[in-house]
Amino acid sequence: MSRDVYTEDHELYRDSVRRFVEREVVPHWERWEEQGRVDRTLFTAAGEAGILGIAAPEDLGGGGVSDFRYNAILSECLAEADVLSAGLGLSLQADIALPYFLHHCTPEQAKQWIPGIISGETILALAMTEPGAGSDVAGIATTARRDGSEYVVNGGKTFITNALNADLVVTAVKTDPEAGRKGISLLVIPSDLPGFSRGEKLAKVGQHAADTAELFFDDVRVPVENLLGEEGRGFYAMMAHLAEERMSVAVQAIAQARRAFEHTLAYAKERQAFGSPIGSFQHNRFVLAEMKTEIDVTQAYVDQLLSRVAVGELDATDAAQAKWWATEVCQKIVDRGVQMHGGYGYMTEYPIARAWVDSRIQTIYAGTTEIMKELIGRSMGL
Ligand SMILES: Cc1cc2nc3c(=O)[nH]c(=O)nc-3n(C[C@H](O)[C@H](O)[C@H](O)COP(=O)(O)OP(=O)(O)OC[C@H]3O[C@@H](n4cnc5c(N)ncnc54)[C@H](O)[C@@H]3O)c2cc1C
Repeated sequence: MSRDVYTEDHELYRDSVRRFVEREVVPHWERWEEQGRVDRTLFTAAGEAGILGIAAPEDLGGGGVSDFRYNAILSECLAEADVLSAGLGLSLQADIALPYFLHHCTPEQAKQWIPGIISGETILALAMTEPGAGSDVAGIATTARRDGSEYVVNGGKTFITNALNADLVVTAVKTDPEAGRKGISLLVIPSDLPGFSRGEKLAKVGQHAADTAELFFDDVRVPVENLLGEEGRGFYAMMAHLAEERMSVAVQAIAQARRAFEHTLAYAKERQAFGSPIGSFQHNRFVLAEMKTEIDVTQAYVDQLLSRVAVGELDATDAAQAKWWATEVCQKIVDRGVQMHGGYGYMTEYPIARAWVDSRIQTIYAGTTEIMKELIGRSMGL
């Protein structure tokens, strides 16, 4: 299927991102998978390559181009090279966390934080989820009590991407524990403050190169200047930005599905059984035909939304639809790919096996499939 969502400028950018992935990610990916996190140098290399701050203002070192299609290209290039797990922290930084800074920083905060984020010297995490509250964001229990010119933060977060490498953590806290969602605020918490600590890297099923851990706050004294946006408006800021996060995951899912399909098609042409390539059996030919169709149809929808994001018209319901649909399609594609690889599909040396474990989380993080359907249902007045 030809795609018309990208212009010549995007394709030129894709060439440079491909080279970045080949040079800075592929040679290290296996080691990062083993050590359970990427090196910090990945972020500075991405900063030097101009990948982290395309949407940021030029006077702060950014590209000054608010076009999410550039972000999508990074995910597509990582999936194409079978190293998506190593790039998830970059996507968290550029696609998901940076927009919070671009939209909510005061001019002073922007000058203080954004240049380091763009250069990759400052690594970001976004901490909402807690052991007792994931889907139910309003149910968080981490508190920030105002004490003079500081907030005193207590609580803990779990499953946080970039937690081990992070320098700044955008943290959802309750500044008014009695006010429900209206009592939630966002604090930018530097990881070198006393009382801030990190857990061990979490033992995940897949995505081993992605750094995921718990964070703990024990009487962490955060200056009030680190409040991001208005006090009590944090929940609404998170809901507004979740649409971008969901597009980011939808793009990764369809890119990963396409790559899984390519591996499966190549294998089906090469692997012989009963004297013929396995792809020549009608059942497998039909399965491959279905996989290709499902990917192309999904890609068309995701591309349509990418064009909308580019002009600032992303609808939250559309993003929820794209997220659950693309991630569920990815699960189906990858699972059928494993089946067609036979026993080799269960061996981690085969990219299809890694895609199978790596992609499983996509229907859960950034809002589960069930929560996406809740949002879509509510948008219809149900
Ligand atoms: C690898 C990884 C990386 C992550 N990165 C981050 C990160 O960087 N920052 C961050 O804040 N979080 C992160 N998360 C957390 C992730 O967003 C949550 O795990 C997710 O939102 C689900 O929350 P939960 O795990 O508490 O599940 P729960 O909310 O307990 O849900 C359990 C099940 O109940 C279902 N359910 C819940 N409510 C409803 C409902 N109303 N109707 C129907 N079904 C419902 C869910 O769909 C799910 O199937 C990450 C998680 C993982 C595993």
